[in-house]
Amino acid sequence: MYTAIAPHLADVPEAQEAADLLRACVHCGFCLATCPTYQVTGDELDSPRGRIYLMKSLVEGADPGLRTQYHLDRCLTCKACESTCPSGVRYGRLVEAGRSLLEKRFPRGLAARVKRAVIRGGLAQSAVFGAAVKLGQLTRPLLPAGLAASVPPERAAGTWPAPRHARRMAVLDGCVQPAIDPGINAAAARVLDQLGISLVRMPRVGCCGALPHHTGDTPGALAMVRANVDVWAQALDSGAIEAIVMTASGCGSEVREYGHLLRHDSAYASRAAQVSAATRDLSEVLQGLGPQLAERIGTARRPAGEAARIAYHPPCSLQHGQKVRGHAEQLLRDIGFEPQPFADSHLCCGSAGSYSLLQPALSKTLQTRKLEHLLGTRPSCIATANIGCQAHLQSGTSVPVRHWINLIDGLLAATPASA
Ligand code: SF4
Ligand code: SF4
Repeated sequence: MYTAIAPHLADVPEAQEAADLLRACVHCGFCLATCPTYQVTGDELDSPRGRIYLMKSLVEGADPGLRTQYHLDRCLTCKACESTCPSGVRYGRLVEAGRSLLEKRFPRGLAARVKRAVIRGGLAQSAVFGAAVKLGQLTRPLLPAGLAASVPPERAAGTWPAPRHARRMAVLDGCVQPAIDPGINAAAARVLDQLGISLVRMPRVGCCGALPHHTGDTPGALAMVRANVDVWAQALDSGAIEAIVMTASGCGSEVREYGHLLRHDSAYASRAAQVSAATRDLSEVLQGLGPQLAERIGTARRPAGEAARIAYHPPCSLQHGQKVRGHAEQLLRDIGFEPQPFADSHLCCGSAGSYSLLQPALSKTLQTRKLEHLLGTRPSCIATANIGCQAHLQSGTSVPVRHWINLIDGLLAATPASA
């Protein structure tokens, strides 16, 4: 799709990037079939192709500010369209460039900016979010039912094994995960410890930057990215770690983009690319080790009957964002779980970072549809790989929703130490 950049935008990097990315689109419309927002609204402007046309108009100098902003805001950035597109359109990068250009040309009103700043301050600062969750847990009986359902149950992290192996990997704590489910990273550390890998937390590493990035604070996001790159690149260079492990696929999707985000920063470009290249989803680290885990668990502890029947929800940030598919399901199968097939597993659950707060109606519709499909399999548990999906789905069902590593850790924990 040829795009003639408007003369007054010729020197704007986002306009140039968008025009480059737009070139790959042949407007065939295959992507419409897998776009969750188009499926809900039926409006072409809520589809990838419709949004692409809006961004083309924007770059060509038309003045569709509010309308474009409305439809780009409704995009989940789930990248299901990228997985479907036969022409390889990098829609995720395109929509980020389009949003950034919009923010410059059509700044939001004060109320919208304050709302986004509050979301950033509340979610991206782990201490603030942790205090809010704690307060919610203490006052749960006094809260309205809808709000009480969104407060996560109190969970203990359990022990974190002391580093004892030559093989070491860093893990990202994340901003909301420690408060919602502190047991995920500890479970990953325990499982990896049994397989000869020590998982270590790195001080001075904070939020991955996804939340500020997706709520319009690009400078704030890049400051976080640079701070993380400083720590991780140094640890990789010194040999202290061999990889950076992500237990939340939303964060992993962002960290894998660090090289792209800082590609024009001569002081950081190569180190950011190094960090992205060293980033692994936890399921990739454990890929192929299912039989070894099954042996440790033993036949007596293999899940059976109703307990074995689970549903696995693959987050968009994993299957579309990182193109990592099938590993967690295979690991769960290897140790005796039976993940059930269900319809539309490629579609977003409506969580999408801050989307559930900024677009609550669409988010709720997608959550309801996803839960209908998942619960239709009559699972004893829903497993997933991203804390945002986990919390969002759990707020709509009493069936437990857990990170898949907790299911593996639970079986290993029941295994005698001599095994
Ligand atoms: S499938 Fe790809 S090429 Fe076709 S309209 Fe969608 S983005 Fe464009
Ligand atoms: S990223 Fe998701 S919601 Fe946005 S256009 Fe693509 S498929 Fe639709």
